[in-house]
Amino acid sequence: MTSSTPSGPDLSTPSSSGADRFVDRHIGPRASHQGEMLQRLGHESLDSLMAAAVPEGIRSAELLGLPAAQSEQDALSRLRELSERNNPGIAMIGLGYHPTITPPVIRRNVLEDPSWYTAYTPYQPEISQGRLEALLNFQTMVSDLTGLPTSNSSLLDEGTAAAEALTLIRRATKGKDELPIVLDTRLLPQTLAVVRTRAEALGIDLLHLDLGQDPVPAGVAGSIIAYPAADGALTDPREAITASQADGGLAVVVADLLALVLVASPGSLGADVVVGSSQRFGVPMFYGGPHAGFMAVRAGLERHLPGRLVGVSVDAAGRPAYRLALQTREQHIRREKATSNICTAQVLLAVTASMYAVYHGAEGLQRIAHHTHAQAVQLAAGLRAGGVELTSDTFFDTVVAAVPGRAAGIVKAARADGIHLLLVDEDHVGVSTSESTTGEHVARVLAAFGLEGAAFGAAEPALPAGLLRTDAILTHPVFTEHRSETQMLRYLKKLSDRDYALDRGMIPLGSCTMKLNATAEMEPISWPGFADLHPFVPAEDASGFIELIEELESWLATVTGYAAVSVQPNAGSQGELAGLLAIRAYHRSNDDAQREVCLIPSSAHGTNAASAVMAGMRVVVVKATDRGEVDLDDLRAKCEQHSDDLAAIMVTYPSTHGVYEHGITELCDVVHQHGGQVYVDGANLNALLGHAKPGQFGGDVSHLNLHKTFCIPHGGGGPGVGPVGVAAHLAPFLPSHPLHPVEAKREGIGAISAAPYGSAGILPIPYAYVLMMGAEGLAEATSVAVLSANYVADRLNDAFPVLYAGENGLVAHECILDVRPLAKSSGISVDDVAKRLVDYGFHAPTMSFPVAGTLMVEPTESEDLAELDRFCEAMLAIRAEIDAVAAGELSAEDNPLVNAPHTARELLDWKHSYSIAAGVFPSGSTQDKYWPPVARIDQAYGDRNLTCACPPLEAFAE
Ligand SMILES: *Cc1c(COP(=O)(O)O)cnc(C)c1O
Repeated sequence: MTSSTPSGPDLSTPSSSGADRFVDRHIGPRASHQGEMLQRLGHESLDSLMAAAVPEGIRSAELLGLPAAQSEQDALSRLRELSERNNPGIAMIGLGYHPTITPPVIRRNVLEDPSWYTAYTPYQPEISQGRLEALLNFQTMVSDLTGLPTSNSSLLDEGTAAAEALTLIRRATKGKDELPIVLDTRLLPQTLAVVRTRAEALGIDLLHLDLGQDPVPAGVAGSIIAYPAADGALTDPREAITASQADGGLAVVVADLLALVLVASPGSLGADVVVGSSQRFGVPMFYGGPHAGFMAVRAGLERHLPGRLVGVSVDAAGRPAYRLALQTREQHIRREKATSNICTAQVLLAVTASMYAVYHGAEGLQRIAHHTHAQAVQLAAGLRAGGVELTSDTFFDTVVAAVPGRAAGIVKAARADGIHLLLVDEDHVGVSTSESTTGEHVARVLAAFGLEGAAFGAAEPALPAGLLRTDAILTHPVFTEHRSETQMLRYLKKLSDRDYALDRGMIPLGSCTMKLNATAEMEPISWPGFADLHPFVPAEDASGFIELIEELESWLATVTGYAAVSVQPNAGSQGELAGLLAIRAYHRSNDDAQREVCLIPSSAHGTNAASAVMAGMRVVVVKATDRGEVDLDDLRAKCEQHSDDLAAIMVTYPSTHGVYEHGITELCDVVHQHGGQVYVDGANLNALLGHAKPGQFGGDVSHLNLHKTFCIPHGGGGPGVGPVGVAAHLAPFLPSHPLHPVEAKREGIGAISAAPYGSAGILPIPYAYVLMMGAEGLAEATSVAVLSANYVADRLNDAFPVLYAGENGLVAHECILDVRPLAKSSGISVDDVAKRLVDYGFHAPTMSFPVAGTLMVEPTESEDLAELDRFCEAMLAIRAEIDAVAAGELSAEDNPLVNAPHTARELLDWKHSYSIAAGVFPSGSTQDKYWPPVARIDQAYGDRNLTCACPPLEAFAE
């Protein structure tokens, strides 16, 4: 039974209206192929398969309240209508979000190009060299501008980057755990809010000081310093930096990347750490996100960096190659000892920002920075000439005007003219300039202040004299060689051609849900009504977006069975933290502050343990049985033992082993009996949607990964959205935000992300998905995802034993293939199998998670039968190769597995004992061959010789 049997037009699913049904585009296997797959598994229908797979006790199918499925065209009309209800106007609000021009060549060929946005995190570096180079450019750019040697390859936003810096201070300073950390009150309000949320959970004592006036006192562990301040004031941070370091503390500076083009780098002023946002480097404001935050550190702190770090190593041929460095620090491995819980970051946006620097180079950035500053200077001169006082004489792009009693009127007048200004308070108005500010905008702002046609002379720059930047930036050739659009386009194409993304073939990564990211879902995110909206415009100017978000939140509540959902967390990891903080706040509200134990099954995703620690909880591990299920006896024992201090359990459902565990309801009951709350990690919702609801089978809170189940593309490692859903008793403890457009949501447990709705800009994607699938379509997608996983498991079980299955022998939406027994007999490792799949034209499945030495395969509903079969056949062929090694037919040292992946360069001087055809064309197809640009990469070499900025071009000389 193969899919190559010609099958004519499929008439088995007539659509009532005759219109094209999106669900038939989203789901890969057509009805007749589903029939074949079901037959192989001995099931008559999808329903009978699901009835057998999903435990009876948790099934609940009805999805009332979801819209009926709409066509792509109708969904796009609805989205168009919502986008047009937003009023982006001319945004001069500032506060960390600025209009910027995304060069069209970058917008179309990165942000809107599936070869960039459908890629996964570069864990298989040999097939990710393009985005790794782009990320290395990002790191080099951030390192240059901040004046510090090592930058990571993105964080979630400025607020969370500052919060990560807070915990970095704790980790990297010894014997200072009791000392306070200074928080500069001149930071952006949302940055303050996110840092405070973190500090509160961890019991870190914050000392709030206005570092524009107050000195940093002795006896602190460090400081987080604004440069420039939220009100635009640009002052010399040197004193604060030195004082913070006096007793061995750390100085963190929160900086604006564009300002750093003109003013002295924090590194040159002595800072240990610099964090901020790269939004204004060509990334649309997106109503708050997604944007790439960054963190750069001085020498000696590299190993404390949170998030991912791209480094240079060498491949098997000794040539330079990129890969993620210091992976051993990551949450997957270090769990509760991890540097942070960051998993999904902001790769696509970091790539965009780096390409903005590649496109403009140093001169272009200087021109843009000078222009931005000059507009602010003009504005200041005009205001002063009109007798308006400013709160600071030195600034980069933001001025705050003192207008006693008149502020609201001025902001209103500007808005009537299509300009958004910042209402600071009754007496102050803030105005920020940007790359796109023109002289005409400045004149219109002055008019709003009642200064029509004000005459003023040439104005002097307002940067502090002692802080002008004198060193060169962006000197690496990559920032000078791509100035023409032809060169730029070819550079983008060259890099994306090196990578394997969903536009080439299946990416069967277990736990990651690499499904279709439909073009109709993606299109709206670049529409101006969504892309160009500043997050702090008045609510009435964002009514379309707010309606979209509230509708989406209510749909997500419906499908999960929870009372309320917040989309603020901008990754699954942040949803976990938000959910655990809700649990913590709930216990505190019941005078149960001592409840701080978080039970975590041994098979859990590493983020779970890392998040629990960040929420101030203590991790206690629950054992697994031989069958891979949570050991309910051990659970009962641990619950008894911690009856007084049990806060929660974090459990993934279906389990990370890819199994619908029958004990889930009992598990929830036991934890509840002991006063604990149940956190259901919703990363595997693709196996539940439309069939079971965590909020109904015992969960109190869950996060979802909209970049898994709801079609937001992975972007090469971000962006993502990790909404948190809660039962009614936890609803008062959902994230709040000091500048939330909905007033009732301004006060609460605090902000988790910098923006009120997190990565709002990509929410049109899940919105469109739900709208086009409808309730039935969503449930059908789940069934087919389960069907496909069981089909693959069944086809491969003889070659690679499926490690775990449910009571009925079925897996859920993914399956773990055991390579360990073969490794023992042949010496071939799981790594060899993963790399060999590249020669066959595949991205490897998830490797060694959750079980070392195994591969976890998640085909998703979107891969059609032909692709599933192509994958199965590649795996079977690999099994035959392993057998040949074990039998001595292939050399143990020189075989196609240990040498994989094979590069084109090897053909010039073929040295292997097997044929070229066996090495590079194992699937028989020469025409559509994907050539990995580098051979197997030496991970250890790169960690021993840590290099995290662009290497000189000579390194690549042939
Ligand atoms: C993906 C995943 C997470 C983390 O989500 P991010 O969005 O990457 O932060 C947590 N738990 C499980 C089981 C996952 O698969």
